[in-house]
Amino acid sequence: MSDASWVHSAQGSDFSLQNLPLGIFSEAKGRRRPGVAIGDYVLDLAAIADLLDEDWRGDLSQPVLNAWLARGPSAQSELRTRVAELLSDGRYRDDVEPQLIGQSEVRLHVPCLIGDYSDFYVGIHHATNVGRQFRPDNPLLPNYKYVPIGYHGRASSVRASGEPVIRPFGQRRAPTADGPEYGPSGRLDYELELGIWVGRGNDLGSPIPIGEAGDHIAGYCLLNDWSARDLQAWEYQPLGPFLAKNFLTSVSPWIVSPDALAPFRKPMPARPSGDPQPLAYLDDPDDRAAGALGIELEASLSTAQMREAKLPPHLLSRGSADAAMYWSAAQIIAHHSSNGCNLQPGDLIGTGTLSTDDSHGLGSLLEISRGGSQPIELASGETRSFLEDGDEVTLRAWCEGEGAVRIGLGECVGRVVSAAVL
Ligand code: CA
Repeated sequence: MSDASWVHSAQGSDFSLQNLPLGIFSEAKGRRRPGVAIGDYVLDLAAIADLLDEDWRGDLSQPVLNAWLARGPSAQSELRTRVAELLSDGRYRDDVEPQLIGQSEVRLHVPCLIGDYSDFYVGIHHATNVGRQFRPDNPLLPNYKYVPIGYHGRASSVRASGEPVIRPFGQRRAPTADGPEYGPSGRLDYELELGIWVGRGNDLGSPIPIGEAGDHIAGYCLLNDWSARDLQAWEYQPLGPFLAKNFLTSVSPWIVSPDALAPFRKPMPARPSGDPQPLAYLDDPDDRAAGALGIELEASLSTAQMREAKLPPHLLSRGSADAAMYWSAAQIIAHHSSNGCNLQPGDLIGTGTLSTDDSHGLGSLLEISRGGSQPIELASGETRSFLEDGDEVTLRAWCEGEGAVRIGLGECVGRVVSAAVL
């Protein structure tokens, strides 16, 4: 099989022949159905069903991917291999090319019916930066290096890239005020994260051994855990984030498979001397050797004024996921199920904000503006500590490596609109 597609826009694209992520799309007034991204196009899988395994057709004509992803990794690999063959072997071109639809002509949706969404906190530099704002001498709490910290988020408010970010209302207390007031958040922020889509689930009471965690991961996306810092500061004790986070979570629409990411895996970063080794249920030699993801991450900001003046977006951060994650995706899956909690096909798990250990790769404005005390300056002459109405945040992610063809996760975009008038 050729390593290039006859779809010319695939060359150098996030959606090269080596990626082939799955998603759910619709055309105007059309039904939602599965597709594969290739270059600037979506390949309509239902329309080429005759060229696919007959046994796959039912699951690949659903409006969500839960049933398909529940089949596990070998089915995913077989489909990806077959689609790569169809998109590279010229003999199939006449049959397949008419079933390509421009990505600009379709709407992309959240690809699964999400039963549960959990968000972790494995970005150690983010946890340190945020902790330092509250506890300068002791930024990381003692449990951090033993247990992958997480909380249960809300599935109902997960939306695909492009959904407007309605500024949330809530209780917030000004530093000098006696008590809280109810009103629109004045400290709206983004969080640059990766999302993990669960493929095969596990039964209640049956933890997933870390060595098998990879069999339960269907793929990855970008995730923006929009956060209202003023609501968060007031509400988070003692039970953690609640309304400061669950007003919206945005995801990039394509599920990039572990197979596509395989050439970009790296060893987990060595734990600093003095750090505890993971407990046995979180330790696996294969995961230590190749559990990190060599994914480059970027966040940028454009304000209404910048777009009006045709100024390019302001680069907020650039960094790598592999250097940011203290715990791997396999450790996240193993830990989440370690008490017997059942993960289900289509569940979404966030990694937590991924920041680098320097100032170039900070994954939130809370960190970039040092809690709002150091606003950033934009080419328009504006400054920002947190997001204003009209601001648009774009997350991007891609993988590059020697001897490997570039792939990408695409974009996760959200523009802030003013709060609903109550
Ligand atoms: Ca988060």
